[in-house]
Amino acid sequence: MRDKTTLDPVDWDDLRANGHRMLDDILNYIQNIRERPVWQPIPGEVRDHFKSPVPVAENDLAVVYDEFLKNILPFSTGNVHPGFMGWVHGGGNPAGMLGEMLAAGLNANLGGRDHTPIEVERQITQWVRDIFGFPEEATGLFVTGTSTANLIGVLVARTATLGTEVRRSGLAASRRQLVAYASAAAHGCVARALEISGIGSDALRLIETDELHRLDTGALERAIISDRHEGLLPFLIVGTAGSVDVGAIDDLAAIAEIAQREKLWFHVDGAFGALGILAPEIQPRLKGIESADSIAFDFHKWGQVPYDAGFILVRDGSLHHDTFASRPGYLTRDTRGLAGGSPWPCDFGLDLSRGFRALKTWFTLKVHGTEKIGAVIAKTCTLARDLESKVVAEPELELLAPAQLNIVCFRYRSEDPDRINSEIVASLHESGIVAPSVTVLSGRVAIRAALVNHRTEACDVDALVQSVLELGRSLARS
Ligand SMILES: *Cc1c(COP(=O)(O)O)cnc(C)c1O
Repeated sequence: MRDKTTLDPVDWDDLRANGHRMLDDILNYIQNIRERPVWQPIPGEVRDHFKSPVPVAENDLAVVYDEFLKNILPFSTGNVHPGFMGWVHGGGNPAGMLGEMLAAGLNANLGGRDHTPIEVERQITQWVRDIFGFPEEATGLFVTGTSTANLIGVLVARTATLGTEVRRSGLAASRRQLVAYASAAAHGCVARALEISGIGSDALRLIETDELHRLDTGALERAIISDRHEGLLPFLIVGTAGSVDVGAIDDLAAIAEIAQREKLWFHVDGAFGALGILAPEIQPRLKGIESADSIAFDFHKWGQVPYDAGFILVRDGSLHHDTFASRPGYLTRDTRGLAGGSPWPCDFGLDLSRGFRALKTWFTLKVHGTEKIGAVIAKTCTLARDLESKVVAEPELELLAPAQLNIVCFRYRSEDPDRINSEIVASLHESGIVAPSVTVLSGRVAIRAALVNHRTEACDVDALVQSVLELGRSLARS
């Protein structure tokens, strides 16, 4: 007699039929995504649906799945859609999705122990070393995203400066206040990483940018000198490869030189831009990234791996290890058996239990190859340049930042541009045709089109320009 207290189905054939239907449905969803609106508002009754109480009794899988089809699938973000241009979201890819499904089946825990899923993560770390020209001793780790990867970068830099003593005594390990530097265009999670690390965001100097929104390296050098003069302890420079607003790439080679001369840790926030190294026309602009002490980036943005798949790469692997490793009795290592294979991923980051993010990344990289991913990245930049020329050619539109990479910021000219352009963007979202986002550049509201999705084509860019013009004209009349 079979024990009924298990979560496996009584009827495997029924489960199998449901599973195959789900797989077909979600592949159809991706294949026919153009037929859907990019995004649609969540109706009140759908939202209410998510207020139902904890399910105590069992439910049929098919019934639960119908609920997914009706209430979840139609109202998701929309970043699978080629018309999605808001924020920097990747489009995902079917091979990566299948990898994620298989990973859930294996239910591997990549915190540690001796199993091939960890070898997959180690292989990707080797590929990442090769891609960025890092040495064998460099270590890498999958994390949720660049927010966490930046935090790890800051924490390793803190160890590099204060020694592992800082792990026990905290910042009392230093008599002097630590100071870090990043450009004024750096992502907000850099300041948050300093907050969490205990150093505090007041210790982050946001250095002015040049006309292309890149960190002004002259101002950086002056700030370091002035802080040293004040008796403070500069320890870290964060360079940005692909700023979130306009896609600016700091002069990484110049920053690397300053960091080396001043003996400071050089961390690169390359959340989406770092993988630009796979596109031959962008690679030269990332020169200097190979000299970084650590690089944070996301496979889930330009790399098109399904969410989430962030990564941290650290040149000095032993420093990385010494920042996090600890050996409680229940995590005892061995040279044989399942407790082998040390060091483990949990020795290099915040998490003990970790999912198999590496598998969807492995599928994506192996199926498509880095050349194709580089071509997708280059395509999004070409589309951005096309959009820029269309904006420039259109007297009713105004370009607010040049397209340096894959992001274009512009607006509809009007007497009340901030209000009109915010309304245009909200209306575009509701139209379901295209979904750019809003940003504020030098106090001016801009429509920001971030072209990241591999499915986006020239017709989507045309639809954006046409829709902005139509909405702008009708709002100007009202
Ligand atoms: C997206 C982004 C981040 C944050 O990365 P997450 O993966 O969302 O945590 C940090 N920096 C830049 C430049 C980004 O574009």
